[in-house]
Amino acid sequence: MTRHDVDRTRPCWSCGHDAGVGVLCAHCQIVQPVAEGADPFAVFGLEPHFDIDTPRLERAYVDAQRRLHPDGFATRPERERRLAAAQAVAINAAYASIKAPLARARTLLRQHGRDAGEASTETIDDPAVLMEAMETREALAEAADADAVADLGRRAAEAVRACQDRLVAAFNTDNLDAAARLTLRLAYLDKLAHEIKRKRLALVGTAA
Ligand SMILES: [Zn+2]
Repeated sequence: MTRHDVDRTRPCWSCGHDAGVGVLCAHCQIVQPVAEGADPFAVFGLEPHFDIDTPRLERAYVDAQRRLHPDGFATRPERERRLAAAQAVAINAAYASIKAPLARARTLLRQHGRDAGEASTETIDDPAVLMEAMETREALAEAADADAVADLGRRAAEAVRACQDRLVAAFNTDNLDAAARLTLRLAYLDKLAHEIKRKRLALVGTAA
């Protein structure tokens, strides 16, 4: 399913042939201007799915950064150097918008015209999630030693994995209501995992 079925072919500014959709002209390999509004998944040759091939994303990202490295443009004309720098910035932004599961879920929701729930996790109105959040915060406040905090951390990591599995199913079945709910839950779980980690580091710090 592609929402960006617009014709992305464009003429190369340098040779005039069809430049294709990549950062370099498919015909002459000269760097092209950043395509505004490009699908960040397509930038890395991926379909817009939550369940992406992460190693493939990493390879495509490293490959793009290598091809756009300033060293490779040191002897090139000013215009190409500027375009390469702009493309590197755009590649970084595209990568950041799909690398982490939470960012990827939000990007997909936005692509489907849905609110990506960025406002805050305070907008959670699911009583079960709120109760769980309250209980975990209490347990974290009461956890007195590193072992207890590590145990909470393991449980939080497991909850994050389970939430991501459910997100895969929700996006794969185009159940966007469920995906939006789960994305909010993932945001809360991510935040919680971060708080647990901070407390664990603080405890380790005082013990050392
Ligand atoms: Zn060209």
